[in-house]
Amino acid sequence: MRLYAFFGGYEIADKSMLTLGRDLGVPVKIPFQYFLIEHPQGRVLFDTGMNPVALTDPASYPPTAQFGSQVTPGDLAPARLAALGLTPDDVNIVVNSHLHYDHAGGNCQFPHAVFLVQYDEMQSAMCPEPWSGLVAENYCRRDFDLPLNYQFLRGDYDVYGDGRLRLIRTPGHTRGHQSLVLRLDESGVVVLAQDAVYLTQSLEQLILATTCFDQKAMYESYVRLREIRRLENAGIIPGHDVAVWESLRQAPLYYD
Ligand SMILES: [Zn+2]
Repeated sequence: MRLYAFFGGYEIADKSMLTLGRDLGVPVKIPFQYFLIEHPQGRVLFDTGMNPVALTDPASYPPTAQFGSQVTPGDLAPARLAALGLTPDDVNIVVNSHLHYDHAGGNCQFPHAVFLVQYDEMQSAMCPEPWSGLVAENYCRRDFDLPLNYQFLRGDYDVYGDGRLRLIRTPGHTRGHQSLVLRLDESGVVVLAQDAVYLTQSLEQLILATTCFDQKAMYESYVRLREIRRLENAGIIPGHDVAVWESLRQAPLYYD
């Protein structure tokens, strides 16, 4: 099994967006990251990067027009796959950690894949709770409200039934967030937490995020991930930590 890490663009944001009640006025680079896993039984893309409309019609797309997302043609999923000699049709399964634009924007580029999304994540994205503020603002309906082959999950899910590629529920950041736990032959257990954990600091110091659907659930997801780290000696890769990102092997390099 191989794990490839893809860079999908970035934003510059106020760090207080990531660290509730701290770091006001501190600018921070937020990389967008998504991943390809080659399992003996198929290829799984974990998140899809940005929507190509960010390049073709940036004025109509809130992330580029309002949030200042920076994306180049090479950051889009088809280009990242092409650099490995693959096309979108070579991807069998797409998993969305959640449906925010920097994770599900590229969904439209995978018309033939099976999508695995938590049921309550789609519910919340299609009809955001009116009080959910920043969480709601990060859903762009054109990213995910598409005639794709969505299969809805209602809990943890072992993708190939062999314990090597497990989806675990990590709600909090959004209502139905999920993370991916990989068991690699050489590298051991790696958790792609995505936005269940923004920064390594978040998990170490139990710092909640400002963009958060449910603070209690986020805290409990932190506890769950720390338990997996302890019991399985796992490495945890947070969703938007630029220092961690820059230390990772990035495609075409890989972990196995
Ligand atoms: Zn994100």
